[in-house]
Amino acid sequence: MDWMPLSEQIDFVFPIPVPTRTLPPHRDTNSYLVGVRETGMIDAGLWDEKGVDALVSRFAKGTKRRLDWLILTHWHPDHLVGTDKIKERTGCRVGVHASEADKVAPVSPDFTFQHGDEIPFDDRVLEVIHTPGHSSGHCCFFLRSEGVLFTGDHILGTGTSIIVPPDGDMELYMASLADLLSYPVKIICPGHGPVVWSAREKIQEYIEHRLEREKAILACLRSGIRRTEDLVAAIYTDVPKSLHAMACFSVEAHLVKLIREGKVRRLEGGGGCEPA
Ligand SMILES: [Zn+2]
Repeated sequence: MDWMPLSEQIDFVFPIPVPTRTLPPHRDTNSYLVGVRETGMIDAGLWDEKGVDALVSRFAKGTKRRLDWLILTHWHPDHLVGTDKIKERTGCRVGVHASEADKVAPVSPDFTFQHGDEIPFDDRVLEVIHTPGHSSGHCCFFLRSEGVLFTGDHILGTGTSIIVPPDGDMELYMASLADLLSYPVKIICPGHGPVVWSAREKIQEYIEHRLEREKAILACLRSGIRRTEDLVAAIYTDVPKSLHAMACFSVEAHLVKLIREGKVRRLEGGGGCEPA
């Protein structure tokens, strides 16, 4: 298996889509190999034997290459299910954000990281950017020299991220999106879907999308809609019905944020929400 580099210029980053049981419309979780000799990997979906064999042969003795580490953007199973297999076969060390170390079982991390840490490979580093929201310890990894941001589930190649409270938090999510604008990001390598070559536009689009959803939720509440399912039916007209159950989580996450901000209150007896 010969993996193609991200581009001619960025010939040391290799996107590897791995078929994994994940949320529709996606069928793959992307792993990324970074580096040429002392290399690293970001996220591990459901790697099969053939894939792991290819990985092992890439790092076989005599190649002067080795897989030093495998870091996880967050604890969700579709991003870590292949971790133990890869660790066992390559001897890499596994890292995750300190706050999620106890959530990644059966994986047991060899190291943890925090916002601002630098994870070395070859003669470069990946910067850790803590981006809570999709999960509380979610991290993006930034290759500053090339402006490449590995975003896990914070930003996807297509569609939007699902925010499931209470570990998912819409207020933190929106703040984490805005934070990314302060980094010189050019290219997004997402956890699912294709590489995004116009990163800033994508980040802006994500921010605007959330603000629009929030506005729509408030408008619907003012018009008398109360229950989360009914809000989804009224607002998510651009999304197939089969995804409405997932959308309920994100609307609920918006409601939690709006309640915290004093703009909305929850009715007693499970009757939904109303404007405050
Ligand atoms: Zn996730």
